Amino acid sequence: MNKVTDIAALARPEIRALKPYASARALADAAGILLNANENPYPPESDGGMALNRYPDPQPARLKARLAELYGTQPERLLITRGSDEGIDLLVRVFCRAGVDRVLICPPCFGMYALSARVQGAELIEAPLVECDGDWQAPADLVERAADCRIAFLCSPNNPTGNLLSSAVVEAVCAAMAGTGLVVIDEAYIEFAPETAMLDLQRRHANLVVLRTLSKAHALAGCRIGTVTADPVIIDLLRRIIAPYPLPTPSVAAAMHALTPTALERSRSLLAEMDAEKKRLCEAFRTMPAVGTLWPGAANFVLIRVDDGPGLVAAAMRSGIRLRDQSAQPALANCVRVTIGTPAENDALIAFLNRWTA
Ligand code: PMP
Repeated sequence: MNKVTDIAALARPEIRALKPYASARALADAAGILLNANENPYPPESDGGMALNRYPDPQPARLKARLAELYGTQPERLLITRGSDEGIDLLVRVFCRAGVDRVLICPPCFGMYALSARVQGAELIEAPLVECDGDWQAPADLVERAADCRIAFLCSPNNPTGNLLSSAVVEAVCAAMAGTGLVVIDEAYIEFAPETAMLDLQRRHANLVVLRTLSKAHALAGCRIGTVTADPVIIDLLRRIIAPYPLPTPSVAAAMHALTPTALERSRSLLAEMDAEKKRLCEAFRTMPAVGTLWPGAANFVLIRVDDGPGLVAAAMRSGIRLRDQSAQPALANCVRVTIGTPAENDALIAFLNRWTA
């Protein structure tokens, strides 16, 4: 494939040619007498002053500025999305031509990369992670496999294995795909291993896209707020196809609150508690003969292998505890992913496992 230097040239021609829909809120601000959006002029009862009768700002500048500050980047490099799920979907839809372009994934991994690729009709190329000395690593042929893909999805810490990728690996993939494709690093769990964040690598690699979310460490999974951080040219292309009003007013208000200094302080202390709880759970798992392998990983979950993974998940369900069977993933037969809960929830899990293994 010829190397193209213009990153916009990697996008589907239809998207490059698209004249985006211009919503009322995008064309004019929400000041003065608002007769431009066919809204009801009367707010609903008890909407807490949020003016829920009005369409929301498509990309609220205050939230964008706050997220850019938190992540150490510039607002023009950010798109706020309905969770990282939407970021994944937008990237595949903008950059992959059906039946032509390929998407690389490193299974076992988060299922939405493959789903979005399949929906778009992009061929899926797999470069499976390799289990090695109780941890998981990128395969030796990752760079080679990524080289003719339009998007490579990497995830660090990875779900469900919890492993980290080295910046050297990510940079090697970026270099191999420079001019021909994007490297998307999904950092949904990065707050659990902040020292490994890769956003700074964007200074050297224009084709590196970073996904973040408020769903995990910031405890806002119910609000659906994620971000794509990338070259402004990429952000502009994604904006062309995102829904006109993706961010509900209550979600934006909750996100602004979650990013105040007091709320961030609380998140930090809860992260420390979750970390201590994870250590406690891992110690308990290590004493249980039924737990054959334990991969603690770097996120708010651990992966275990038992003799009968689906059986464990079903028994836990009968005891009122939901665990996630990973048996369907390559190399993860009988593996179960366990999220770190509150101390009381973890106590209940340990008690259940001790009964189950007895
Ligand atoms: N990426 C990974 C690796 C995830 O595990 C998840 C959610 N489980 C997501 C993205 C989606 O997160 P969001 O809630 O931001 O859509």
